Amino acid sequence: NVPVVTVDGPSGVGKGTISQLLAKRLGWHFLDSGALYRLTALAARRHGVALDDEEALSGLAGSLDVRFEAGEHGGTALVFLENRDVTDDIRKEECGSDASVVAALLPVREALLQRQRAFRRSPGLVADGRDMGTAVFPDAPAKIFLTASPEVRAERRYNQLKQKGLDVNLPSLLREIAERDERDSNRSASPLRPAEDAIVIDTSELGVQDVFEQVMSAIAE
Ligand code: C5P
Repeated sequence: NVPVVTVDGPSGVGKGTISQLLAKRLGWHFLDSGALYRLTALAARRHGVALDDEEALSGLAGSLDVRFEAGEHGGTALVFLENRDVTDDIRKEECGSDASVVAALLPVREALLQRQRAFRRSPGLVADGRDMGTAVFPDAPAKIFLTASPEVRAERRYNQLKQKGLDVNLPSLLREIAERDERDSNRSASPLRPAEDAIVIDTSELGVQDVFEQVMSAIAE
C-alpha cells in the first residue's frame, strides 16, 4: 500500500508551502487538490456554466482536460486547462472563491474523487486540501491539520500576493478568507474539520521552518 501524508486546513494556512517542502524532502508525489476545484470553477466560467448547475459542473469536473507540468514557476508546477497555461489565473482570489462555491456540491466532489486518488503512486504522496484525511485518503497513516487565526492567514496571503507584484488589499483578503472559512466549514459535503486521527498544529505563531520541523517529527512517529 503506497503511503500518504495528508495536510489539511483552512485557506491561507500555508498548507501548500508545507506540503510541497514535505514532498520534496521525502521525494514523493504531490497533490494540490484545491487546484482541481479551482480548475473546475475556471472551466465553468470559460464555458458559461452557472456555479449552481450541479449536473453541468459535475460533468466538467469529471472530464477536466488538465495537465500539471513540473517546472520552475515560483517553485510550483505549471497548470494547463484545455492546453492553456492557467497557472496564474487559478491563483486569483476570485477563482478561490468560485472554487469554494462549486466545492460545496456533492456531485462535484464525487466527480473529482478518483482523479485525486490516482495521484497515489509509488513511492508515496503528500496530499494538500480540506478533506484529504477525512474523505479522500481516510486510510492515510499520517494526517496533519494546520490552523491559524484568520488575521494571520490574511496577512500571509497578502505578503504572498504582494511578492508576486499583484494588487492586493488586506481588509478585503480578510473578508474573503472569512467567507471561504464559513462556506468550507458549514457545507454538508465533506465540511472542513480535522480527521479524528489527525495531528493538529496551530501555526499562528510559527515560521515556515518551525512548522516544517513539527510536521516532520509528527510523521516520523
Ligand atoms: O486550497 P485552495 O485555496 O486552493 O482551495 C480552493 C477551494 O477549493 C477551497 O476554499 C475549498 O472550498 C475547495 N477545496 C475543497 N476540498 C479540497 C481542496 C479545496 O473543498 N480538498
